[in-house]
Amino acid sequence: MPSAWPCSTYYSDRGPRLARERQLLITGGTVVDQSGSRRADVLVKGDAIAAVEGGRVLRAPAGADVLDASGCVVAPGLVDLHAHLREPGAEEAETIETGSRAAALGGYTAVVAMPNTSPPADSAAVVRQVLQLANGACCEVLPAGTITVGREGRVLAPMAELAALGVKIFSDDGSGVQDAGLMRRAMEYASALGVVIADHCEDASLVGSGVVNEGAISSALGLPGRPAVSEEVMVLRDIALAHVTGARLHLLHLSAATSVAAVRAAKASGVAVSAEVTPHHLALTEDNLAAYSTAFKVNPPLRTFTDMMALRGGLGDGTLDVVATDHAPHPEEAKDTSMCEAAPGMLGLETALAVVFSELNFPLERVLAAMSWVPARIGGIAGQGGPVTPGSPANLCVIDLARRWVVQPGKLASRSRNTPFAGRELLGKVRHTVFAGEPVVVAEEAQR
Ligand SMILES: [Zn+2]
Repeated sequence: MPSAWPCSTYYSDRGPRLARERQLLITGGTVVDQSGSRRADVLVKGDAIAAVEGGRVLRAPAGADVLDASGCVVAPGLVDLHAHLREPGAEEAETIETGSRAAALGGYTAVVAMPNTSPPADSAAVVRQVLQLANGACCEVLPAGTITVGREGRVLAPMAELAALGVKIFSDDGSGVQDAGLMRRAMEYASALGVVIADHCEDASLVGSGVVNEGAISSALGLPGRPAVSEEVMVLRDIALAHVTGARLHLLHLSAATSVAAVRAAKASGVAVSAEVTPHHLALTEDNLAAYSTAFKVNPPLRTFTDMMALRGGLGDGTLDVVATDHAPHPEEAKDTSMCEAAPGMLGLETALAVVFSELNFPLERVLAAMSWVPARIGGIAGQGGPVTPGSPANLCVIDLARRWVVQPGKLASRSRNTPFAGRELLGKVRHTVFAGEPVVVAEEAQR
């Protein structure tokens, strides 16, 4: 069984184990899913939940592994609609294997791999390659496809061909689709195919060469700014296009108060739009850049305290549906340079749940909804996001809500180290993660 916590990702050989009808008893925890919360033991057989019983009445069958969940929450595994796993092409930053280990340690059992790889996932060949690499991963990895060939914003990618391979989310993430006419056609195809268009909303003509939020900090540091309105105008454009095409639109990593207001109004008028926010935009502001650390450089940029509070409000009232990581690993040399030269992006998978739980005083059910069953529904990811009931696929995480821990970059499973939360004490840690019936993360100290 696994090595020492907290970096005890343990997996491989799932096929043979499942063939033996491995059994696993998760005992002593409180099950929380979309139907509410109750004390219950969970018995897993093979890759599915076999029984959920209150009052610790389940006895471990002979040969079963036991995971102690005393004092913990047993929840559906988390689902990330937005992670950059960098493979193929930037394996020095991350691979599907290392990214999936980071995901499992963060409680994730499903991750959407963004298509801005090298080459990008704009062809069946690259999508097939990601799917093949995903076979050995310790969570489900679902490739997203690009909207345009090469993410160049000129010609639509073969969306129908990619959708036939199972791709359900299309995005040119890293940048937005600038041409409104092209985006309209993408949405028309997406609507016909029943897939989601996920846009990175930044108008390039307003962003220019900006590297941080346009405002007091950009002025103080003498850096070119990226204004909030660059996001707002594309959010408004995409909402209008979704309205006329009927497409399902998902707005990635919103950062500005004005964007939250736009989404709130769109939802009130019945447009099929969903929106996400990242842990870093919920927990950090442009003030974190005052010390000139490139760890805090990200697109869209960290904005003002007012923006951060509007994002929290949007998540609280359901305007923002999802917390997604935008996990963006970069090797040290890409960050260890000037603010203008440094690569934008931050790690997220291993810290997301704890950051949200620590920084926001939200009910756990709200946090889990935004990080598990709502993203599973938006992404059309069957078998993820619960419920924790007999017959459901056994994709689960066990969370110790009382556990305090300090983020140590050197101990993260990601191949990169660019976390903005280095040294920060967080509350809440994933103790175990079970993917397809297999305990891929096990806290050794909690085993019996
Ligand atoms: Zn993006």
